[in-house]
Amino acid sequence: MIVILKQNHDQKQLEELRAWLEEQEISIQVNHGVHSTVLGLIGDTSQVDSDLIEALDIVEAVKRVQEPYKKANRKFHPQNSVVTVGGVPVGGGGFVVMAGPCSVESREQLCEVAQAVKASGAQILRGGAFKPRTSPYAFQGMRESGIDLLLEAKKLTGLPIVTEIMDISHLDSFAQVDCIQVGARNMQNFELLKELGRSKTPVLLKRGLSSTIQEWLMSAEYIMAGGNENVILCERGIRTFETATRNTFDISAVPVLREHSHLPVIMDPSHATGVARYVKPLAVAAAAIGADGLMIEVHNNPAKALCDGPQSLTPEQFDDTMRSVNAVLAARR
Ligand code: PEP
Ligand code: MN
Repeated sequence: MIVILKQNHDQKQLEELRAWLEEQEISIQVNHGVHSTVLGLIGDTSQVDSDLIEALDIVEAVKRVQEPYKKANRKFHPQNSVVTVGGVPVGGGGFVVMAGPCSVESREQLCEVAQAVKASGAQILRGGAFKPRTSPYAFQGMRESGIDLLLEAKKLTGLPIVTEIMDISHLDSFAQVDCIQVGARNMQNFELLKELGRSKTPVLLKRGLSSTIQEWLMSAEYIMAGGNENVILCERGIRTFETATRNTFDISAVPVLREHSHLPVIMDPSHATGVARYVKPLAVAAAAIGADGLMIEVHNNPAKALCDGPQSLTPEQFDDTMRSVNAVLAARR
C-alpha cells in the first residue's frame, strides 16, 4: 500500500500514523520527493483500513498495490484449488457440468430432468428450492419440500446436489445438501457468508449482478476467512446497458480470476443470456476459455416452467450442447 502525504504535513501526525501502523506490524518506508512525500507500507496490509488512512488530515491519497484478499489470492496459494462436491472434484483440470431445472416443481419433473441430464453427462444436479424472485407474486419455490425432492433425486441418480440458500435461518434444512449456492442477489449478504464460513459444506458463490471481480473475491474471502475454503466461483452475467440478453456474459472473468485466484470457476450461460438458443454457443465458449465447468438450466417442458422457462434447455438441447462442449474439451486436450 502506498500513502501519498499532503505538502507541509504535520510531522506529529505522521508519527501517530507510523505508531498506529506499527501496532498492526506494518513498517513504513518514507520517500521524500520534490513535490510530495510518499510512504511505502511494508507487511501484510490486507487487514489495514485504507479508508481510515485516506481520511487523515495529512493524507492526499492511498493506493493499494496488493489485493485486499489473501485466502482467495493466488499469490499465497499458487496451485489451483479443487473443491469436492459429494465426491465430484471441481477445479484442478477436469470439467464439471451442473444441470437441472431452475426450480424444483414436482417429483416427476425433477426426477425426469435429473435422469436426463445424468445420461447426457452432467455430474451434479441443480435445482432451486428457495427462489429469489423479483416479484413477490411469482412462484417462490417449494422450499424445504424442494430440498427433500432433491435428496430423492440424488438417491435415484447418484448425482450430488447444489441448491440456493437465501437466509441464514434456513441453514438447518441444508444439512444434507452437497453444495450450497449463494445467488447473485446475496453475494454481499455478509452475515450469510460468515455463517457459511463456519461450515465445511462447499459453497457455489455466484457473482453479484453489478459486482466487480474484486468485490466478488472479497465475498469469497468472507467465507474462507471463517475457515471454509471450499468455494467455487460462478460467473452468471452482469448488468450492462445491453438489453438483447438478460445479462452480459463476462467471459473475460475466467482469465482474470485465473490470474488473481486459485479458486475453481464455473460459468452459467443460462442466467447470463436468459435465452435458450444462446446457451449452447456460450457454453462452448466457456469450455474453450478454460473454465472448470458449467451450470445449465434444463427443464422437461420449458414452456410450462414455473421459473426461467425462456432460458431453459430441453433435455435434447442439453444433450446436443454437451456434445459440442465435449468436442471443444477434447480439442483442448
Ligand atoms: C439460480 O441459479 O437459479 C439463480 C437464481 O441464479 P442467480 O443468482 O445467478 O440469478
Ligand atoms: Mn433460474
